[in-house]
Amino acid sequence: MIPLDFYNHIISLLGSDLVLSSPAELSVYESDGLTGYHQIPGLVVFPLETSQVSQVVKACSDFGIPFVARGAGTGLSGGALPSPDGVLIVLSKMRKILEIDPINQRMVVEPGVTNIEISKAVSKYNLYYAPDPSSQIVCTIGGNVAENSGGAHCLKYGFTTHHVLGLEVVFPDGSIEQIGSSTLDFPGYDLRGAIIGSEGTLGIVTKIVVKLTRIPESVATLVADFESPEQAGEAVTGIIGAGIIPAAVEMLDSLAIQACEAATHSGFSLDAGAVLIVEVDGPDAETKFTFEQVKNICKQALATNIKVAETSAQRAAIWAGRKSAFAAVGRISPSYYVQDGVIPRTALGSVLAKIAKMSLESGIRVANVFHAGDGNLHPLVLYNPSIEFEAQKAEKLASDIVALCVEAGGSITGEHGVGVDKACSMPKMFSEQDIEIMLSFKSAFDPQGICNPDKIFPTPRLCGESPGPYKAHPLEKAGIAERF
Ligand SMILES: Cc1cc2nc3c(=O)[nH]c(=O)nc-3n(C[C@H](O)[C@H](O)[C@H](O)COP(=O)(O)OP(=O)(O)OC[C@H]3O[C@@H](n4cnc5c(N)ncnc54)[C@H](O)[C@@H]3O)c2cc1C
Repeated sequence: MIPLDFYNHIISLLGSDLVLSSPAELSVYESDGLTGYHQIPGLVVFPLETSQVSQVVKACSDFGIPFVARGAGTGLSGGALPSPDGVLIVLSKMRKILEIDPINQRMVVEPGVTNIEISKAVSKYNLYYAPDPSSQIVCTIGGNVAENSGGAHCLKYGFTTHHVLGLEVVFPDGSIEQIGSSTLDFPGYDLRGAIIGSEGTLGIVTKIVVKLTRIPESVATLVADFESPEQAGEAVTGIIGAGIIPAAVEMLDSLAIQACEAATHSGFSLDAGAVLIVEVDGPDAETKFTFEQVKNICKQALATNIKVAETSAQRAAIWAGRKSAFAAVGRISPSYYVQDGVIPRTALGSVLAKIAKMSLESGIRVANVFHAGDGNLHPLVLYNPSIEFEAQKAEKLASDIVALCVEAGGSITGEHGVGVDKACSMPKMFSEQDIEIMLSFKSAFDPQGICNPDKIFPTPRLCGESPGPYKAHPLEKAGIAERF
């Protein structure tokens, strides 16, 4: 319950037009893209500028009320899941482009600007913003910063953290700080690096200085068909092993191909066991040379067919197919769970074979569509919620897949974050001391434990009493434990 005096104070700060409080309105914000977790927020607010974010956060601090930032709500790990007794601060109305500096290839934007809007705004200068999550037409740059988002072209160009130079942050006491700058190096601790990927647990980002990239002179894209994901995995190892860094290497297995073709008719071969999309870019001569090398490696890895995009429309169709893959899976299953794990590239073939075996044994179908060049898997675990216990079986399989990634020398998440979804998997990767250090770090920024609580870290309530190396932390003594 939100205390009445707190509610009245928020209305006095923002006015009633920027505040939602009726149960029907609040229910719209009960979950993000991980719809299995839902929680109706106490209050939803839509600040228009940094000073309003600061005032709301300061009020939360004064009243001891938890708050959660939200961009577009496309997150897939429950990072924007609201607190029932807290405030959901939605940044989607803060969507101004504040400054464009094409000569220095910099731009300053508010957090609600969508990823694609940044590239659109600077295309006339032959520039773009390189990280390209498949959700880029909807997701916000603030959400990208919080999740350190990746995308198909991050293999060559790097993740959000490589393209964000400076931030304005409202910390959990309401103070407004500038972090980093528009220059490439900045003295002192790299707090910019700490905020990026912190999943909204250290503060709210209200301004972002991004680095812009020149649009490459030429691009070449192919789709290679293989009999199996294992063979396609061999081709990926061959390409990277040859010292080639393509702009993108993406893989779809046969189930994902069926779904994409049903939805977008992009021209993927329905009889392939797996397809690889490989894109190279750069100066014209280099692109031509590298593209031939890639084709030869795919042939040596026994590609059954190679189709080259001859026009930009054909290239766009391939990417439309790939980028709508998650949504397309709705064509072949009433529901699914998007898993996100990382493995060493060389383990692609063996891990995919193990996932296929686990899928067969559990009777739960798994479609794979992922950033193969980064070893960043996205197994989509399909289930029918109206069949008794199938959702639980799917969740168990998804969790076993994460354990498999860690066993293979990888990570519990590649780009979708930990959120609530993977909090209980943290001890699979981190020791008790590791988690203690992370919690001490958070408590330096958020001593009251009010900034996006219940996320990232395992707790008795989230994970049961017994598991793992979890131990009470001072943060809990500050009141967090009561909410678990
Ligand atoms: C179809 C689909 C495809 C996707 N493809 C990709 C992909 O290719 N790569 C990838 O990395 N992700 C992908 N995602 C996941 C998601 O789109 C990204 O994580 C994205 O960055 C989330 O942005 P958002 O604006 O929706 O953030 P939200 O979901 O609203 O929030 C995500 C997290 O960021 C925090 N947050 C939001 N705004 C701020 C802010 N201003 N300050 C501080 N914290 C904030 C929230 O508290 C939450 O923890 C995909 C999702 C979908 C649905």
